[in-house]
Amino acid sequence: MSHPRGPLSQLRRGHEELVLGLLRKHGPLSRGELGKRCGLSRTTLYDILAELVASGAVVTATSQEAPRGRGRPAETLTLNPDAGQAIGIDFARRALHVAAVNLAHEVVGSASEPHDADLPWEQRVELAVRLVGSLTGTGTGALRLGALDAIGVGVVGVVGSQRAGGEGRPAEEGGGHTGPHPAQVLLRERFGVPVLLDNNTRLAALGESIWGAAAGGQDVLYLRLSHGVGGGLVVGGSLHRGAYGLSGEFGHITVEPGGARCDCGGTGCLETVASIRAVLDAFRAAGGRAADVPELVKAVRAGDRAALTLLGGVGARIGEVLAALCNAIGPSVIVIGGELVETGEALVAPIERALHDHVMPVSRHRVSLRRATLGEVAGALGGIALVLHESPLLSRYPAGPDLAEDPIPDKESR
Ligand SMILES: [Zn+2]
Repeated sequence: MSHPRGPLSQLRRGHEELVLGLLRKHGPLSRGELGKRCGLSRTTLYDILAELVASGAVVTATSQEAPRGRGRPAETLTLNPDAGQAIGIDFARRALHVAAVNLAHEVVGSASEPHDADLPWEQRVELAVRLVGSLTGTGTGALRLGALDAIGVGVVGVVGSQRAGGEGRPAEEGGGHTGPHPAQVLLRERFGVPVLLDNNTRLAALGESIWGAAAGGQDVLYLRLSHGVGGGLVVGGSLHRGAYGLSGEFGHITVEPGGARCDCGGTGCLETVASIRAVLDAFRAAGGRAADVPELVKAVRAGDRAALTLLGGVGARIGEVLAALCNAIGPSVIVIGGELVETGEALVAPIERALHDHVMPVSRHRVSLRRATLGEVAGALGGIALVLHESPLLSRYPAGPDLAEDPIPDKESR
């Protein structure tokens, strides 16, 4: 299942997809049954099957129920439960998250590992390769990648369409460059498949809207309170990307005009108040002691007044921003995720209060505030959704080359 793009290989790929789709739908089938259902010629089908078996995508089994005395027992073909079809990787600021689905589209595993914020891309990709290697399938063997289709990658920052703006990489590292992101180049070298790239928080919004707290929601607002503050929107049943991929930057809405300087270049953004660093700094300035979020959570559980007062104020700011966004967009579900939400009701209750107080009264009882349920792998799962491109939420979302897919290596120009 490699991806040269001539018309013949595309035709072949279509045939492979047809066969895999039938096995996904019907379970194990004999060659004869597959032949009846797929409509391909016997030669073509056997040819495609030989390739799928060789790549590890499909495995053969001898049916136990074959009637005796009627020739050879029937051999059936089935999807290999250990064959990874899609990998999602979230390159967050200080951690890496990976997840994989097999050909039956079941999540076969996920893994996470924290790292320093300044870890170079080469080492981040090495870490990703190691984490992918650690995933094991439902069977006994490790994940097999012979059937790998593509990798969906989330990165921090603005990811624009190459076609729209010539910016296939985050603005924070773009520096006027165009072309593929270093993660795309390095992952393609390692795995030899297309690498689709998008903003990691938008991918987390996608994951939560397909499998998580907002599953089935048609109008969803997702906010992540982590080292950065960002989000994503599902509007009218579609993941919203915005011109130049700029939708969902809720962390850079001004909440304190003339306030602290923000990494984005602005001042007084929500992120300067509600990011992990901002909250921990403010807690320490108020006399509290916490080196990280788990220690802050401990202080909250111990009833620390400074922590509760601080989170009350931060929650109020977040709730005000959500109320404004609600009035603009009209979501039915708001999902809040990220490490800071682990502080629990100390943060969530003031968010809810401020949302209630500031949203248009007519919307108050029509919007449901929920905590994210997919945890830290939401972005990696969103990357998988991007690759599979099956969710109706993506029906109007750009795919393939429009979505900052890495260009085909061109030997002439290198
Ligand atoms: Zn900002």
